[in-house]
Amino acid sequence: MKCSVCGARAQVEVRRRNQAFCAEHYREWFVGEVRRNIRRHRMIRDGDRLLVAVSGGKDSLVLWDTLERLGYAATGFHIQLGIGDYSRRALQTTRAFAAKRGLELLVVDVRESFGLSVPQLAHATGRAACSGCGLVKRYLMNRVAEEEGFSVVATGHNLDDEAATLLGNVTHWQTDALVRQGPMLEARAGLARRVKPLYSLAEREVAAYAFLAGIAYQHEECPHAVGAKSLLYKDVLGRLETRMPGTKQVFLEQYLKKIQPVFKEGLPGAEVELRRCERCGSVTTSRVCAHCKLWERAYSRARKLGLLPEDARFDPRPRVERVKASG
Ligand code: SF4
Ligand SMILES: [Zn+2]
Ligand SMILES: [Zn+2]
Repeated sequence: MKCSVCGARAQVEVRRRNQAFCAEHYREWFVGEVRRNIRRHRMIRDGDRLLVAVSGGKDSLVLWDTLERLGYAATGFHIQLGIGDYSRRALQTTRAFAAKRGLELLVVDVRESFGLSVPQLAHATGRAACSGCGLVKRYLMNRVAEEEGFSVVATGHNLDDEAATLLGNVTHWQTDALVRQGPMLEARAGLARRVKPLYSLAEREVAAYAFLAGIAYQHEECPHAVGAKSLLYKDVLGRLETRMPGTKQVFLEQYLKKIQPVFKEGLPGAEVELRRCERCGSVTTSRVCAHCKLWERAYSRARKLGLLPEDARFDPRPRVERVKASG
């Protein structure tokens, strides 16, 4: 197999595009795809301040790398979830990446800020770790972006993530989620714009870029991911992709192009009214936001379980640690 650009021996094949590349031209192609996505959807505009959510996994570090290569100054944001060694290694990897490149990083430790780690929160509420974790991550991203003056939050969702989410939403006809899904969600009512510059790139393409660009990322998955429905959807789509290359891309892109506009027109109540939470002041749809409700429930149980002192009271303000750029 030869590189589609220079004819040298190819190292990566992009089957769904019928193309193959040598290492150098693969990296060029990949960064070019990210640039096109950003431009096509006007993800980043003049005067924007950019926050990139970094877990320490390949997707988020590749995103941070490509944004830097494209000349965007992006501050990293890592949430320390407190999931044992997995979380410790995630923080180490993220810090090492930022330090090596002299990038600014913000870190919020969930336990230091709110009193309980993600596993303790799950224990106290009796809910699966992922449900509380997802809520806390969304809350922190919105809140830290607003408090620190960032106009855009970028996340590393790739084509496999987005196609799996779409399949999940379609399977359950979650119309409110279907209307909102997409590579760019405009800013509204104090919420920063949300963008996914890697949304058209497959997971294996992101992994190939990470390898060829020499990015040291965390390979291990969160222990709570085992059995997640998203993995089942990815597996189903992966099998379709093997038989019919390009399926994931067509499934996602044609939905966004042809079906979502119809949904947006025709679904009553697609635009929900946003207001400020009475307790924490964050943007929400109800009087008290889901994050405050979750933690208030968790606190009352955690006090009984002895995880927190009797007089502990939930404080919704995150403590942000700033790791300064050094390079
Ligand atoms: S798998 Fe679940 S608990 Fe682990 S990081 Fe993801 S959402 Fe959080
Ligand atoms: Zn080449
Ligand atoms: Zn609140």
